[in-house]
Parts: sequence; structure tokens; C-alpha cells
Amino acid sequence: MTLSLAATALSWLIAYALVCWAHPFGRCWWCKADGRNAAGYCNACNGSGRRKRLGRRLYEAIRREYRDGTK
Ligand SMILES: [Zn+2]
Repeated sequence: MTLSLAATALSWLIAYALVCWAHPFGRCWWCKADGRNAAGYCNACNGSGRRKRLGRRLYEAIRREYRDGTK
């Protein structure tokens, strides 16, 4: 029971990592990807309508740490 739950969680994690790798940018949730919200300019995506996925940011943070650590 616990093992199958862990396997399911792991396969979801792998699938999410693949999506982050293949499509690092996602649609902005705040402005529905048109770069503007009710107030005008969308600050969440700087008006681009695209946002970096959380997983991609995590990946870049890990890469940066690794690069800085092996200099
Ligand atoms: Zn936006």
C-alpha cells in the first residue's frame, strides 16, 4: 500500500520534471498569458504572459549552486 503510493508519487515527480525540462515556460496564471491584468500591466510575468515553471526555477537554482560550488 505504502510502496504503491510512493511509486505513484515518484512517477508523478518524474513526469513533472520532464514537463519542466521540455517546456520551461508556462502560461501566466494571473493575466491568462496576455501580459495584462485588470490593473493593466501584469507584474507576475513582466507583461510577457509567460512564467518560468517552479520546477525549472528549482533546476536552475540547483545548477547555480553546483556551478558555484565547483569553481
Ligand atoms: Zn502575467
